[in-house]
Amino acid sequence: MKSILEGKKVFRGLQFLLVGLILSPISLAYLVIGRFFLSKLFFASSNCTGCGLCAKSCTVKAIRMVGSNKSRPYWTFACESCMRCMGYCPNKAVEVSHSFAIILYFIATLPVSFYLLDGLRNFIPIEHDVFLIKVLLDYCYTLVSIFVAYLILYWLIKIPLLNKLCTYITFAHFYRRYHEPDTALTDIVVESKND
Ligand code: SF4
Ligand code: SF4
Repeated sequence: MKSILEGKKVFRGLQFLLVGLILSPISLAYLVIGRFFLSKLFFASSNCTGCGLCAKSCTVKAIRMVGSNKSRPYWTFACESCMRCMGYCPNKAVEVSHSFAIILYFIATLPVSFYLLDGLRNFIPIEHDVFLIKVLLDYCYTLVSIFVAYLILYWLIKIPLLNKLCTYITFAHFYRRYHEPDTALTDIVVESKND
């Protein structure tokens, strides 16, 4: 920055452009599917009081508080996995279910297009080269299956024993819940109200 301000030309940044280009397939995969998968791994442990602060402070409004009696956070596809809710929850109640991630992987990657198109071929003539249709079918199935599986998890996780089990076996115990020492979730909510 100092060199640029002095009017000198700096080309060191080009190496990061190269790294960015090499990593672009990973970025694309995250954009198209990874973010949807990761957003549905969050759940609230039994420490959750239903205060709703996580939902109020999420900058992309990705959390909905669901339930009439004691509402609980529900993570939508809008989540960008920034981990802010996890780092700031006053009760450390936001968890990530890695066991669910494994189950979800097997559910979401079923090759439905193969079975569907194979079945349909008995009734209508389908060209052999249907790669694009297969990709679209599988993509739609993956998104819908992630959505439905998470919906089921959301209701099942209300069962105290299952909630305890998922909380006990998550690797999130090893996560550092980073946040500014002097900032609480309430401060962020107040800030966003004033914006
Ligand atoms: S901030 Fe924590 S305790 Fe409050 S609703 Fe969200 S997860 Fe539950
Ligand atoms: S991880 Fe970030 S984007 Fe996702 S719900 Fe939490 S605060 Fe919002």
